[in-house]
Amino acid sequence: VGPEIARRHIGPRYFSRYGQATWVGVLRDPKDKPIGPYVTKPDKIYGDMTPEVKGTILEDYMKSGKGPVYMDCRGISDEDYEYMMYWMVHEGNSSLLDYMKEEGIDIRKHLVEFQIYHMLPEGKIWINEKAETSIDGLYAAGDESMGGIGPSATYGWIAGENAATYVKEASGPDVEKARAEIEERKALVNNMSSRKEGPDWKEANIALQQIMQDYAGPVRSETLLTAGLSYLRRLREKVDTTMMARNQWELTRCLETLNLLDLGELVFLAANERKETRGLHNRPDYPLTDPMLDGKSLFIRRVKGEPVIELKKAE
Ligand SMILES: Cc1cc2nc3c(=O)[nH]c(=O)nc-3n(C[C@H](O)[C@H](O)[C@H](O)COP(=O)(O)OP(=O)(O)OC[C@H]3O[C@@H](n4cnc5c(N)ncnc54)[C@H](O)[C@@H]3O)c2cc1C
Repeated sequence: VGPEIARRHIGPRYFSRYGQATWVGVLRDPKDKPIGPYVTKPDKIYGDMTPEVKGTILEDYMKSGKGPVYMDCRGISDEDYEYMMYWMVHEGNSSLLDYMKEEGIDIRKHLVEFQIYHMLPEGKIWINEKAETSIDGLYAAGDESMGGIGPSATYGWIAGENAATYVKEASGPDVEKARAEIEERKALVNNMSSRKEGPDWKEANIALQQIMQDYAGPVRSETLLTAGLSYLRRLREKVDTTMMARNQWELTRCLETLNLLDLGELVFLAANERKETRGLHNRPDYPLTDPMLDGKSLFIRRVKGEPVIELKKAE
């Protein structure tokens, strides 16, 4: 559900794995001028909310040649510094702090260049209160269904308990019914493992990222999305017939890449279907937000091999 909806966050340049952590500083341009009107010195109460108000401001600075933009924590009080370090560790940023320590970067003295990261699709697997998906016997939880530590832990528990109960009562899988699909998957894996030449998963992954960025990125229109989807499907055909895995480790990566290609297709289909601009889903061919679509989500299912898209309230 909702693969066309996206979010972006900011952070140190080229460290996109990290979340939007508690940075107590001021975002400044190269001439030391704050880029926003909110703060002029580090303050743990206010932080610098400029990118919260205008998400793309860091990108605008780069595009207009006024960048880069730096996070400036110089002048931070000891108390605020302690607060920031405490939260950065608890927000999963300890490896970033270790890296800065190793490289001799002290945020009390050095500026850190910031950027806005790429778009992250918010698409989820839809589950009910029992963590059941629309496929009988398949449960989902965590980042795949809602994300965040609390919901992931809660629904991980619920999904685990209900899956265990289901298994106790379920009859065994009907292997014969799934035989054709099993053979097809086996052939796919065998072919990838036995090829002696061809592109590896990295090449396929980079090609996919380029297509997603350029055709389903910050600007989306029917012509861009249609072109992008056709490129993605051609890439898929090529990948299915030429990608190779040199070992088991690469095979896992190849399978993940095939998964990502499926998800990319969902993004294109849903983005084309949502004929309005909403948040980061920016459609110059439909520049206004349609209030009739408030609270409605796009659900995509595969029925007899074909995608079926439904727009409805997520209940
Ligand atoms: C830097 C950062 C900061 C964050 N800060 C917050 C926050 O402050 N508050 C908040 O609510 N959320 C935060 N999140 C999000 C939160 O961490 C996730 O939503 C949550 O951990 C998702 O839980 P999960 O169980 O779905 O996935 P994960 O916690 O990612 O668990 C998946 C596990 O599966 C394992 N795995 C992967 N592939 C395989 C395989 N093939 N075989 C076996 N095991 C495998 C992985 O090693 C991993 O242990 C943050 C995330 C990041 C990255």
